[in-house]
Amino acid sequence: MVPDDPGVLVVGAGVIGSAVAYHVARRGRPVVVIDADRQPSLTTRASLGVLTHFNGGSNPLSRLYRDGLDSFAGLAVELGNETGIDIGWRRCGGLDLVIGDADESEARANLTYNQGRQCRAEWVDSDGLRDLEPTVVRQARAAVFYPDDQRVDPIRLRQALLQAAVQRGARLYLGEELAQVARLDHETLTVRTSTGAFTAQAVVFAAGAWTGLLAGRLGARLVLRPVRGQHLRFAGGPCPQCVVRHGGFHALGADGDVVVGATVEDAGYAPEATAEAAAGLAAARQVMLGAAARPTAQQVGLRPKPKGARPMIGPLREWPQVFVAAGHYKNGVIMGPVTGELVAAWIDSGHAPWDLSYFAPER
Ligand SMILES: Cc1cc2nc3c(=O)[nH]c(=O)nc-3n(C[C@H](O)[C@H](O)[C@H](O)COP(=O)(O)OP(=O)(O)OC[C@H]3O[C@@H](n4cnc5c(N)ncnc54)[C@H](O)[C@@H]3O)c2cc1C
Repeated sequence: MVPDDPGVLVVGAGVIGSAVAYHVARRGRPVVVIDADRQPSLTTRASLGVLTHFNGGSNPLSRLYRDGLDSFAGLAVELGNETGIDIGWRRCGGLDLVIGDADESEARANLTYNQGRQCRAEWVDSDGLRDLEPTVVRQARAAVFYPDDQRVDPIRLRQALLQAAVQRGARLYLGEELAQVARLDHETLTVRTSTGAFTAQAVVFAAGAWTGLLAGRLGARLVLRPVRGQHLRFAGGPCPQCVVRHGGFHALGADGDVVVGATVEDAGYAPEATAEAAAGLAAARQVMLGAAARPTAQQVGLRPKPKGARPMIGPLREWPQVFVAAGHYKNGVIMGPVTGELVAAWIDSGHAPWDLSYFAPER
């Protein structure tokens, strides 16, 4: 049962909701997080946690992306000190492998494109590649190396954000579904969940791919749809230090295992792992790393894909106390912590910390 006046109510305990809760709690405001699922954050748990590529562009999305990437070194220390949880952050570098003939022109085009956005990247030949990453197949004859690519463990990141929020007074209710939001007066909302009713000063919809459904109940139209993604974990076989990429797939080392992802599938709200995806991911691992390895676990998530290819951050037009923090699609781990910071600052001060109109949820 949620308490009478939670101050700020965050709906959804994925990486985005957990980051919002952490930053609201850091500001000393009371905050409650609810999640319909007793094992929340399906999508965050499926994430690879890859943090790539630096983007020096000047538009608001580039800035959000860059601020996200820049936040992790400090966040890893901060959350480690606060919770004792190692979020597994490392600046491991990334490699786009050149294996077949068609790969070379694509890799060179990406190199030029990313260098044009002030992303550090360099061409490495076969010897250079083996020095950087001896685990890749011998057929890989070159690569583009992105030295600033990073990786974080998304499960431990979410857990640390939430635990740090709880240590600062946030309360967490799992298995608690949002049922209804209504206005009590111009400052206060009344909220009904699956087990009770209470008041709140602000509500944040951070419900991932389900956020549009919640906003729809308030008459707001958010164009947001689920895009399924799967990854496969392997034990045994070579374990790369860098994030290795080829053919749209990533392979990375995680606690001695190898994780390969991710599929991109239009399957509606169907979070089922499929044999077809497992076969495709195993084949992708084989192409990049060769040698046999044993699949041990398959994860599936529903990425929240927004209209306009940019996250939805800010209040609803007709509901200034109801905020949206969703729609981060393939980059929710990169942009999650910084989104939490922005939303918390906005709720606290009553205005956006910088011009975030580009991310207006209703578009
Ligand atoms: C296979 C895969 C690989 C990925 N790799 C990367 C990567 O390398 N880097 C990167 O940055 N991003 C990556 N992503 C994307 C990233 O995982 C997502 O953008 C991010 O996890 C979205 O987080 P979220 O908090 O918005 O959603 P979620 O994690 O889905 O959390 C939303 C929560 O809201 C809850 N909820 C829904 N409705 C209600 C309701 N009515 N009441 C209460 N609670 C509700 C749900 O139960 C859920 O727990 C990947 C995604 C996938 C699927």
